[in-house]
Amino acid sequence: MRAVLLGPPGSGKGTHGRRLAEALQVPLIATGDILRQAIADGTPLGRSAEADVQAGRLVPDATMVELIGGRLAAPDAAKGFVLDGFPRTVVQAEGLERILDGRCLDHVLNLVVAAEVVVSRLKDRWLCSSCGAIYNLVSAPPKRAGICDRCGAALQQRADDQPQTVRNRLAVYDRDTAPLVTYYERAGLLRNVDASAPAAEVYDAIRRTVCLAA
Ligand code: AMP
Repeated sequence: MRAVLLGPPGSGKGTHGRRLAEALQVPLIATGDILRQAIADGTPLGRSAEADVQAGRLVPDATMVELIGGRLAAPDAAKGFVLDGFPRTVVQAEGLERILDGRCLDHVLNLVVAAEVVVSRLKDRWLCSSCGAIYNLVSAPPKRAGICDRCGAALQQRADDQPQTVRNRLAVYDRDTAPLVTYYERAGLLRNVDASAPAAEVYDAIRRTVCLAA
């Protein structure tokens, strides 16, 4: 299955994408994670993307399309993938079609949630510095404060989850990414999911939408 997760920052793309990819046994390809790793490693990609990521701006389309083209050419993506955070513009969506070269996407899952909900969610979001597991101090806290339940590594907050940067990321989403809703609706691929519900209910809705057994 080839699936794309669409939705504003904090809509749950990472949380549900990870679970969906595990259930489908395909790779989760999260461009934000790839960029953060490249920045941490100080690679040429990381150095060129760092200022944009820190400010909550989009990295140029050409860079992102090249990055995804390389990643989707890897053998593990041949049987399918879940994309989280890509495409983020119509130009990237067109680039993805060129990369797929006639192979179709199966689903574009649009996680719908109001801006005030995501601002409040992201201020309480913590991530595992090692395995990337996502926690929320209010709705999904770790068993031990500051420690990942899955692997025991330290939890950390994302620098771009500060409220001012989140507002910037939301404005960028409305301007550059929201047009993809119409784009994929026209292509007959869009599946809207109410992402304001508790995580278990949202995942259940996603699972039913893509016809995946419980
Ligand atoms: P995310 O983890 O998906 O919220 O992405 C974090 C940041 O990485 C974004 O605010 C952008 O600066 C950058 N980024 C991730 N994916 C893309 C993309 N497809 N196009 C441009 N910038 C991206």
